[in-house]
Amino acid sequence: MAFINENYLKLPGSYLFAEIARRVNAFKEVNPSADVIRLGIGDVTLPLPQVSIEAMHKAVDEMAVKETFRGYGPEQGYDFLIEAIREANYTSRGLKVDSDEIFVSDGSKSDCANIQEIFGLDNVVAIPDPVYPVYLDTNVMAGRTGELGADGHFAGVSYLPCTAESGFAPSMPEGHVDMIYLCSPNNPTGTTLSREQLEAWVAYARKEKAVILYDSAYAAYITEDNVPRSIYEIEGAREVAIEFRSFSKTAGFTGTRCGYTVVPKELMAYTKNGEARDLRSLWNRRHTTKFNGTPYIIQRGAAAIYTKEGQAQIKELVGYYMENARIIREGLTSAGLTCFGGVNAPYIWLQTPNNMPSWDFFNKLLSEANIVGTPGAGFGSCGEGYFRLTAFGDRENTLRAVERFKNLKL
Ligand code: PLP
Repeated sequence: MAFINENYLKLPGSYLFAEIARRVNAFKEVNPSADVIRLGIGDVTLPLPQVSIEAMHKAVDEMAVKETFRGYGPEQGYDFLIEAIREANYTSRGLKVDSDEIFVSDGSKSDCANIQEIFGLDNVVAIPDPVYPVYLDTNVMAGRTGELGADGHFAGVSYLPCTAESGFAPSMPEGHVDMIYLCSPNNPTGTTLSREQLEAWVAYARKEKAVILYDSAYAAYITEDNVPRSIYEIEGAREVAIEFRSFSKTAGFTGTRCGYTVVPKELMAYTKNGEARDLRSLWNRRHTTKFNGTPYIIQRGAAAIYTKEGQAQIKELVGYYMENARIIREGLTSAGLTCFGGVNAPYIWLQTPNNMPSWDFFNKLLSEANIVGTPGAGFGSCGEGYFRLTAFGDRENTLRAVERFKNLKL
C-alpha cells in the first residue's frame, strides 16, 4: 500500500484563482454579453522585448547546426547569462555577488517553493500576512506546520501581520524564528521595505542565526531612488539572506520562464550538533540533482535584456505598466477609495468601502462594474477588507475600468 504525504490534506481545497475563475464563469453564463475587464491575475499582456525575440530566433538557428547545437547545459545556467546578471544587478551597483552564487532557473515560483527543502523540518517559519501564497503552502506541504485553525492560520507558523498603520511592512516576530520570508515590492500590497526596515531584519536574522528568504521578483518596478532593489544593499545581508529574482515581470517572461536565485557563500545554517554548513553548497546539490538547466534558447532571450538596447526596451515595458498603475491609483483615489501601492510595484491595494468583506466586494465589482480583481483575503487573513488590482492590463481596458469605478455606487 502506498501512503500519501498527508501534509497535502492540510491545505484548503480551492485555490484562489480557481475560485475567481469559477465565479467569473458563472457570471458570464448568466450575462453572456457582459464586457468583463480582468485586472485580477498578475500576468503580463505586452509581448516580449524585441531583443529577446531576436536572440531566441538566433539561438533556435544555432540548434539546427551540429557545430553550434547545445544539449544539456550547466544546471546553474550559462556563463553568458550569469555574468550579465551579475554585472547589471550587482557589480555595477557596488554589490559583491560571485558568479558561483547565482543559480539560473525556470522562474522564481519554483525557487521560492523549493528553497525550503534545504532547511530542517523543525525550523520555525515566519511569513508576512498578506503575501504571495507559495511560501506558506510549500511549507505546509513539507510538514513544517500543524493543522489549519478556525482563524485561518496554520499552527506553528509565525505570521507577520502587515497593516496600513505600518505601511504594510511585516511586523517583527514575537519570539525566535528560523526562516523569514520577505517580499519587496510586495505582492499583493504593492508596498516596499525601506533601507531601515531591511536593516532591522538583517540585524534580527544575525542575532537569531535565522535566514531571510528575500523575494524581489518585482525589483524592476521600483521607481523611488531610496528604496533598496537588492537585500545585499544592506550591510551583513550576505551572511543571512538568499535573494530571488525573476524575468517574468521584468521582461514579460511569464510564459517563457526564467529566474534566478542568489545564495552567498557566507550564508550558514546549522546541523543539530551546532556545526555550521554553507547553504550555497546545499542549494547547488539540490539544483544539480533535481534540475537540468533552463533551455539555452530561453537563457539567450533573457541575457539580451542586459544589452543597451534591451535595457531601453524593458524600461519602456515597465514604464507602460507603471503608467497604468498611476492611472488606477489616481482614478480610484479621486473616486473616493483609499489606495496603497502602485508607486514601486504593479499592484494597487485598495481598502474595500465601508469595511466590506473582500469577496463581497469582488461580487459587487463583477456584477455592477464587470471588473475582475483579487480579494485580499486570498493572500492571508490580514488581507481581509482589501482588494488587489493589477497594472498589467492594456491601457484602454485600464482607462475603461477606472471610468467604471467612478460610476460605481460605493
Ligand atoms: N514571487 C512573487 C512575489 C510573485 O508574485 C510571483 C508571480 O506572480 C513569483 C514570485 C513567480 O514568478 P515566476 O514567474 O518567476 O515564477
